[in-house]
Amino acid sequence: MIERTLIDAETLGARVQELGAEIARDYADRDLVLVCLLKGGIYFTADLSRAIDLPITVEFVRARSYAGTSSSGEVKLSWIDGLDIAGRDVLIVEDIVDTGLTLVEIWQALEARGAASLAICALLYKEKRLAHPFAVRYIGFAIEDVFVVGYGLDYDERFRNLPHIAVFQPDESARSPSRLGRSPLNPP
Ligand code: 5GP
Repeated sequence: MIERTLIDAETLGARVQELGAEIARDYADRDLVLVCLLKGGIYFTADLSRAIDLPITVEFVRARSYAGTSSSGEVKLSWIDGLDIAGRDVLIVEDIVDTGLTLVEIWQALEARGAASLAICALLYKEKRLAHPFAVRYIGFAIEDVFVVGYGLDYDERFRNLPHIAVFQPDESARSPSRLGRSPLNPP
């Protein structure tokens, strides 16, 4: 169940604008392509891309590793074959860095496709959980080791549409939609 708001929508929006301005400064006169990791990165990428005042392009890759609130330890990437990134500056846009395993996989896959440069932008970063040390160039917020939902992040596909980031405590006895309790759009 939704426990509490961790980052409200206004704070999220302000930070995304800051990140966008920073990225626009860093990549001025470069050929930047954002690679959004779906599904979790969808809202962040949509807002971030509009905060970058440059003629960028946006691509999408699907990465799957989580079931419920824990990682399966194996990352499956889809839709990576058709990416046009050879010789281009690539910024991977990730919803949350937890153990870092997803980043290891996507980094290797994009490197193999000849990107001119690679960097990572993560909205959330769980520093304590990082098992695979990775330099994340742009971080929205460093957060504690809690399971969060909202702004693209899900619990078994639900709660992505929350406009804020909330701490979620799974109640395994209440998995059906009709038993999810409060409306996700009106948390306590
Ligand atoms: P990593 O590979 O870094 O361990 O995990 C990254 C992926 O796991 C994220 O893209 C996200 O899909 C999922 N994940 C990690 N922590 C959380 C969390 O607190 N909440 C949600 N909803 N997903 C998470």
